[in-house]
Amino acid sequence: MMVDSGIQPWLFEVEPYPGESLSHFLGRFRHQNRLTANGLGKMAGIGAVIGRWERFHLNPYPTKAQFEALGKVVGVASEQLWAMLPAKGEGMKCDPIRLCGACYGESPCHRIEWQYKSVWQCPRHHLKLLSKCPNCGAKFKVPALWNDGFCSRCHLSFSSLANWQKPASTSKRDSQSDIQSPVKRIT
Ligand SMILES: [Zn+2]
Ligand SMILES: [Zn+2]
Repeated sequence: MMVDSGIQPWLFEVEPYPGESLSHFLGRFRHQNRLTANGLGKMAGIGAVIGRWERFHLNPYPTKAQFEALGKVVGVASEQLWAMLPAKGEGMKCDPIRLCGACYGESPCHRIEWQYKSVWQCPRHHLKLLSKCPNCGAKFKVPALWNDGFCSRCHLSFSSLANWQKPASTSKRDSQSDIQSPVKRIT
């Protein structure tokens, strides 16, 4: 009997999306396999850490041994799990959860880079990231709970939120000088 060969045969595998955050990936895996956060932690033998990681509470930081054990259960190499967390030296903000609706429309997942302290616009679409639903003002839930891809309050789809995103100018300074500019255009 093969035990250590990767994913358990009774679990559904979930393919990670490029750039997907750990929270979103774990939520998809649990949803697909009807597992609770604690159930998944138990299965991997790593205890009650999954729920904290899904909220991006990474103190204490996950260990190599934990990710190797988790990777075996979810069927993903531990290197891929590390890639779902911020790159080394990259500061992260876990609140508020942010979103680019245009990205979500192309590939329905929460990107880890949206939570970087240094990131405030989508580098792909040059749109300002949303930090709450622009229609109803609800905060976005942790990505592990994004299974349906809708705002939890007004049910607008995340991809349709792209229409509400403001274009980002090339730098923060530019957008400020736009607002502060005393020059009035004569029409
Ligand atoms: Zn985008
Ligand atoms: Zn809403």
